Amino acid sequence: MHPGDANYKHPDRPQEKITGRASGNNRIKQKSTTNSQFPSSSKANYLLPFDILGGRSHSEWYFYSMIILDGRVASKAIKEKLSNDVKVLVSKGERPPHLAAILVGKDPASEFYVSSKVKSCEETGFKSTLVKYEDVSEDDLIEKIVELNKDETVDGILVQLPLPRHISSKNIISAIDPEKDVDGFHPVNAGNLMLGNESYLPATPYGIMLLLEHYKLDIKGKHAVVIGRSNIVGRPISILLSNNTHPGNATVTLTHSQTADLGKICADADIIVAAIGKPGFVKAHMVKDGAIVIDVGINRVDDDSPKGYKITGDVDYENVAPKTSYITPVPGGVGLMTIAALLKNTLKSRLLRI
Ligand code: NAD
Repeated sequence: MHPGDANYKHPDRPQEKITGRASGNNRIKQKSTTNSQFPSSSKANYLLPFDILGGRSHSEWYFYSMIILDGRVASKAIKEKLSNDVKVLVSKGERPPHLAAILVGKDPASEFYVSSKVKSCEETGFKSTLVKYEDVSEDDLIEKIVELNKDETVDGILVQLPLPRHISSKNIISAIDPEKDVDGFHPVNAGNLMLGNESYLPATPYGIMLLLEHYKLDIKGKHAVVIGRSNIVGRPISILLSNNTHPGNATVTLTHSQTADLGKICADADIIVAAIGKPGFVKAHMVKDGAIVIDVGINRVDDDSPKGYKITGDVDYENVAPKTSYITPVPGGVGLMTIAALLKNTLKSRLLRI
C-alpha cells in the first residue's frame, strides 16, 4: 500500500488515526497518534500550509504524523530514575555521586550549560562542585584537574568546552583521569568506544541513543546519515548508531564539510543526525518523507526578542518537521539528553567506586 493512502500504516510506527484532512482550503490537518506510549506533549497536531507540500497534490503527499522526540519528557524520566537510585545509595549509608565542573572565562553560552548541569545535579540529589576561573594558565588548570583526580569524594570531572585559545583542550582532556571522565572525551574512553569496550560514552551521542531508546525507535538496517565529524558528536554517534546493539545496527554514512553531493546523500537517509553548528542548514529538500531527524545544533541567532537572540538548531525545523516521522526540537531536544547522559555517567562512576 502506498504511504499516501488513507489507511496506510507505517511498518515501524504506532497506530495512527487521521483526525482531519481538509482539501480545497490549502490546508491539511495532520493526524494525531493514538499510541499511549508517547506522552501527550510529544504529539504534534498542527496545520500544514499548502506551500510546504512543495507543489505536490494532496493525494500525492505522504501522510506522516510527525512525532516530537521530546528531550524534556525523556530526560525527566531518566532523571527520576537516577534520583531514585541516589536515594537507594544514600539509604545504604553511601555518599551521593559528586560531579566537579570547571568553567574558564565568561562565555554566556558556556555559563548557561554549566549552570544547567549543576542545577540538574541538585534536582537529582547529586553533589556538584563548580570551579570557576575568569582566567587561568594551562599549568594551573592541569594542577586543579590532578587535585580533583586524587580527590576520592569526586566521581566525575568535566571541563566545559571551548577553552580560551591559550589552553589546549587536548592537554586538558588528557589530564582527566579516564575513570572520572564522565564527558567521555579522554583518548582512553574514545578508544574503548571505538573498540566496543566498556567506557564512558560522550554525553551528547549517549544522550541521542537514550532518546532513541526512550521512544523505542528501531533503527536496525536503516540508513543513518550523520552530518559533522567532530570528536564530541559526529564521529562517536556514527559509531554508536552502527554498533551491534539496540538501538543500533544502522548503516551509517558520516559526512562533513568536504562531502560531495551532501543533499543527495541526505535525501536517501532514513535517519539524519545534524551536528554542524550552522542554523537551519538542513533544508526540506534534503529530507526524505518519513525520515527521523535528530538536530544536535545549538546556535544563537539574533532576533527582536527582549533577549536579542533565539536558540535554533542546524535544521530548518519549520519546513523540515512536517516531512518527518520523528524530529527533535531545539531547544528541548538533544541538549537536555546530554545532561541526562552526563548524570548517568557520573552515577556509573560513583557505583564503580564503591
Ligand atoms: P564542530 O564545529 O566541532 O564540527 C562541525 C562539523 O560540521 C565539522 O565536522 C564539519 O566538517 C561539519 N560541517 C561544517 N560545515 C559543513 C557543511 N557545509 N557541510 C557538511 N558538514 C559541515 O561542532 P560540534 O562540536 O560537533 O557541534 C556541532 C553543533 O552541535 C554546534 O551547533 C554545537 O553547539 C552543537 N552541540 C550541541 C550539543 C548538545 O548538547 N545539544 C553538544 C555539543 C555540540
